[in-house]
Amino acid sequence: MTTDFAPFLAWLDDQYEEMLAKTIALAETNSGSLNADGVNRVREMLTEYCQVLEGEIEVIPVAPYQNLNANGVMESFPLGDALRIRKRPEAPLQIFFCGHMDTVFAKDSSFQQVRWLDEETLNGPGVADLKGGIMVMLKALEALERSPWADKIGWQILFNPDEEIGSPGSAPLISEAAKQVHLGMIYEPCFPDCNFAGERKGSGNFCVMVRGKAAHAGREHHLGRNAVRAMCDFVSDLDDLNGLRPGVTINPGLIEGGGAVNIVPDLCIHRFNIRLVDPADEDWCLGQIDKLLAKINARDGISIELFGNFGRKPKVLSTANTKLFELARECGQSLGMDLQWLPTGGCCDGNNLAAAGIPNIDTLGVQGGKIHSSDEYLKVKSLNERAKLSALILFKLATSENLNWLEEN
Ligand SMILES: [Zn+2]
Repeated sequence: MTTDFAPFLAWLDDQYEEMLAKTIALAETNSGSLNADGVNRVREMLTEYCQVLEGEIEVIPVAPYQNLNANGVMESFPLGDALRIRKRPEAPLQIFFCGHMDTVFAKDSSFQQVRWLDEETLNGPGVADLKGGIMVMLKALEALERSPWADKIGWQILFNPDEEIGSPGSAPLISEAAKQVHLGMIYEPCFPDCNFAGERKGSGNFCVMVRGKAAHAGREHHLGRNAVRAMCDFVSDLDDLNGLRPGVTINPGLIEGGGAVNIVPDLCIHRFNIRLVDPADEDWCLGQIDKLLAKINARDGISIELFGNFGRKPKVLSTANTKLFELARECGQSLGMDLQWLPTGGCCDGNNLAAAGIPNIDTLGVQGGKIHSSDEYLKVKSLNERAKLSALILFKLATSENLNWLEEN
């Protein structure tokens, strides 16, 4: 390792206690995506934690989350505000830092506290996804600010309130950032073996609603138009699309409809998810679904309507993105870590940033696992290790003579 960097990385060794204490405080503050008050409490804590960075702080409200409920009514849920912090927008290299404040654990979940599984392993809501990662990001940036190379890098942090529900409200903020930066660093947890996520599938969440006509099942069955039956036909046809296109998978996930068995049901709702590898397959999927909808809509007394979209574009690795991974691997090597990047079917904000042409690494956060379950854990040693990794990436970028590769597609 270039000896110059060593003292600035060593400083991070002394930050462990603080990183751990703040990770625990954040994890024990519930911030389920739809708990706007809880997300805003986390935002206030982060505002305080960020003071030391001396950036320009903004609180930005985002649009409410819309969801079609089981009664066919579009419901609106307020979300917590996003938090954006910017510094040195005039510096030659601009970096976007992102981490989400929300978790999958609702306000009434029984999983609200941390506990130690052993000396190295902390179990708790969001300890890995993504509250530990937030501390990794903030300490790496603090290390940069304390170094002599800070003036080479301008940065903006976005703490978004809604990643776990697909970032519907914060997506415009990510697109806005993509126009202003050269690369992105996102703090989702790495894989349990410390490796990065490379390519990612794209994903779309959809909902279809069938309306038919209610009638008494005994006296006037012939007057009814059965929404459940129409939906069953739609779902079978939809599932039959699996296997027709390499890399495309469709998962019918939930059907809600009907009630008393002596009534012909007049409403049925179905929710499904599509994953794909090739961005061009979005159009293929939408075209196929349109045909299925037309078939159902042609029926007497039955109507079907589609909601939703492909919120996450596939993350395809550009040349620049691959070079960014190579830089991270080199940094890992000098810190004694052997890091690879592997494709995954999961998605995150890194998908959207890559789709906007910005190379990024989206799993710079902590080592942990079993995320989205009450077994979620954090390997606490990784708080330091990963902060050093990010700090070293920043130092190397700041001192690099040639960053032209960032423009390669
Ligand atoms: Zn996450």
